[in-house]
Parts: sequence; C-alpha cells; structure tokens
Amino acid sequence: MTELLYLANFNVEMCEAEVIAIDTLEDGRSDVILDKTCFYPRGGGQDWDKGEILSGNSYFDIDETRLDETGTVHHIGHFTSGMFNVRNQVSGKVDHDRRLINTRLHSAGHVIDMAINSLELDWIATKGQHYPDLSAVEYHGTWQPEQAEKLKSGIESRVNEFIRGATDNELRFMPVEEMHTICRHVPDNIPKNKPGRVVVYADNFGIPCGGTHVKNLQEIGLVKIPKLKEKKGVIRVTYTVDEIN
Ligand SMILES: [Zn+2]
Repeated sequence: MTELLYLANFNVEMCEAEVIAIDTLEDGRSDVILDKTCFYPRGGGQDWDKGEILSGNSYFDIDETRLDETGTVHHIGHFTSGMFNVRNQVSGKVDHDRRLINTRLHSAGHVIDMAINSLELDWIATKGQHYPDLSAVEYHGTWQPEQAEKLKSGIESRVNEFIRGATDNELRFMPVEEMHTICRHVPDNIPKNKPGRVVVYADNFGIPCGGTHVKNLQEIGLVKIPKLKEKKGVIRVTYTVDEIN
C-alpha cells in the first residue's frame, strides 16, 4: 500500500520517497513503486499526474500513474537516464501545469454540485468526468424540458458567484458517520475502518473525495455550461473552464 501524500494538503507536488519495486511491463515501459507518493493516480473522474522521479543521475519520466486494488500506486514510464535500485531514496516532482488543469477541472465539477444543491434541485450526483477534452457531471433526476435554458443559466451564474466570492477551502479527516453532517452525498463504498477525507468548500459544503482540489475556488476561473441534457432520467451538465476547454 502506498502512502498518498497528496491527500494531506492542497498543492502537494513534490516528495521524497524510497523505491520499493521496479518492474518491466509487457509494453516495455517500467513500473516504479514507492513507499509514498505525491503523484495522483487516475480516479474519481480526474486524470493522472505526470512528472519525474530522480535519484542522483537517474531520471524517470512518468507518463501514467495508476492505483491498483491493493492500494499500491504504479508510476509507469521510462528512464531517460540511469536506473533506480530497490531502497534508493528518490525525489518526485509532479508536472505542475498538468496537475493544475486537472485540479481546476475537478474542483469546477464539485462547484456545479454545490450550485445544484443551493438551487434546491433534488438531483442525485452519479458520475463526473473532469478531463480537458470532456468535462461533465451527471445526475439522476427529473426536469421539465421547457426549463432547460433557465436551469442552465441559473446553474452557471450560481457557480460563478461561488467562485468569485470564495474563501479558502479546508481539508478534514473524520469518521464516516460524521461525514453525513456536512456532506450532501456520502458514497457507500467509503472505507469505514479509518477516518475519511472531506474537502470543505464555502458555506460548509463537505465533499468526501480523494482527488486534488484548488485551495481557493477563485483559482478555477470562469466556468461556462454550454450544454444541459436529459435522457432517460439522467441529467448531464457539460461544463468548460476558462482557458482549458
Ligand atoms: Zn472529487
């Protein structure tokens, strides 16, 4: 199990770690496993981090970061010079620009949720995709088709009000029972044997989430909602974030 350092704070983009294992994959790429990591593996609709790991004159370029079912993070890529050995001490550095894009997109998805909550729409969030080429959140719910335009602009302006007026977000770790007091939705699959991570946005809006988040929602920039669609009870809110998509 890899210790996930990026959970502990906003903007964790560097780490010192120890090499636990190095494997070669069928496609020829190397898979480096560390005791702890600052690299976010793909999950929760947020894309993985890229970046580099180095030790002395050895450099490893990460092009994919994955979390497996045992909780181990795999840093997959190739050595551009040298090679690591097990037990080497290494330094990790996340590709900042890519992380920032993914973080802003991911946080924007949660602000849409916050807006939907504050507009008292009884939609239930089912899935989010926070990728540069596809940013959308989906809900189970109902609406009247003639309300679509009004809803779309209502959600968009509420989202941008939240962003403009934002104060700093907070990170808290708490037992699952306590999450229900500040979170609109607590997924059933959250491990109940340890405190879980809740990110608290403005107005005490708690989000049980292991992704990376902006510290202040103002970092997201302007959000637009070009499309709002409903099909068989699934409402899909497509969004874009300033200068990303
Ligand atoms: Zn999230």
